[in-house]
Amino acid sequence: MRYFALGLAALAFASGASAQQTQQPSATSVAVNPQAPPAAAPISPEQERTVDRLRAAALESNLAWEIVEDLVTEIGPRLAGSEAEARARDWAVNMLREQRFSNVRIEPFTIPYWDATREEASIVGPAPQPMVIAALGGSPSTPQGGLEAEVVRFADMAALEAAPEDAVRGRIVFIDERMQRTQDGSGYGAAVAKRGRCAPVAQAKGAVACLIRSVGTDPHRFAHQGGSSRQSQGASLPAAAISPADADLLARRISRGATRVRLDIQADIRENAPSGNVIAEIRGRERPDEIVLLAAHLDSWDMGQGAVDDGAGVAIVTAAAKLIRDLPRRPRRTIRILLAGAEENGVHGGAAYAEAHANETHIVGAESDFGAGPIWRFRTRFADHALPYGRAIQRQLAPLGIIPGDNAAGGGADIGAMRQAGMPVVDLSQNGLDYFDYHHTPNDTLDKIDPEALRQNVAAYAVFAYLVADSDGVFTAEP
Ligand SMILES: [Zn+2]
Repeated sequence: MRYFALGLAALAFASGASAQQTQQPSATSVAVNPQAPPAAAPISPEQERTVDRLRAAALESNLAWEIVEDLVTEIGPRLAGSEAEARARDWAVNMLREQRFSNVRIEPFTIPYWDATREEASIVGPAPQPMVIAALGGSPSTPQGGLEAEVVRFADMAALEAAPEDAVRGRIVFIDERMQRTQDGSGYGAAVAKRGRCAPVAQAKGAVACLIRSVGTDPHRFAHQGGSSRQSQGASLPAAAISPADADLLARRISRGATRVRLDIQADIRENAPSGNVIAEIRGRERPDEIVLLAAHLDSWDMGQGAVDDGAGVAIVTAAAKLIRDLPRRPRRTIRILLAGAEENGVHGGAAYAEAHANETHIVGAESDFGAGPIWRFRTRFADHALPYGRAIQRQLAPLGIIPGDNAAGGGADIGAMRQAGMPVVDLSQNGLDYFDYHHTPNDTLDKIDPEALRQNVAAYAVFAYLVADSDGVFTAEP
């Protein structure tokens, strides 16, 4: 995931096996009016039997594991716009056809390509020390051979913003802000701001480069990759994330006196590189033009394997849809899988999808892009009249340990443009306590995925997608 919408409340809920017995605290209360009369059951006995069947089948299925294992073994890292991302699209088309989905296709678009060919930094002087860094996506190159300057440390972005220009001019800015570990990922929303904003703010004050403490929660000597702000904000300062251990070291050296760093970033930057979205469908038996959208993204950063981000999501939504595909009767509406390209360097696939499909009727969308941890909460972003329906869906998820959430679902980066265009969304919130230990690092590898948690995810997506696709429920404001 690249962005993460902030939840209304950062909840520390014990992991979810006992949700059926758990009285939900008021801070988490689902947005159902407690005074309203109980809604007529929107789920038929036949649908309930199908849901039971889907849940049981998912909890025994290894399909999601097989999909992500194959993706990271056959393709591996898939940088947006690269030849590897193109191979991943072909892999996805073959895989989706093998699973007998309909209308499997690539929808191509082009993106600005960026890749670091060199990323090195070291503290210089009488006691030189190399640091582990990752150039931030979109960073321009330093001059050949690198640049060297004194480093000025700021505790956070606000401190940089408040600093006078003469404290910054000619220096390398270092933002030393730490990220909080949270179950719902809300720590990321707060911490990631420095990744996009350090370079433009530092540049405006005359800095020569920008270093940030990695946006992550692990203690390892890895730096976390991630996009900066070239496209959105026009920054032109070289920028890199440094590992937590090296951020500690740099802060200690600065506390002892003037500290100089040499930074060498060389980047391959090209316009109009090929990317694309991969689409597949289960056509609805009665209302094929009404779409339930299940998204994940196919590209990844390239230091790891792209297993938890977002090979897991690709596997979860595909395996869930496949279980529905295998039912004796297709649901009434169309279920569409969107495996988006080029999410990590600017959510280009999500934008391309919204542009190409704006005129279609999207009933609801969901995206799996928060790793492979178990789902613990179901959030909606529905019109008020549809909230009882949301609650009825949640009851079918409760046997999986999933509790009700609020009505402020974010939906995910690749369906963000569709959400803004009015598509209702839900979040099947995964436990992300350890997600940012691995996110965008060399440690994003297959062994971080628990097959059992993956099966629980598949069950939840299958139950949700089947219920909305087999219904005539409308989750936007009534027409
Ligand atoms: Zn992702």
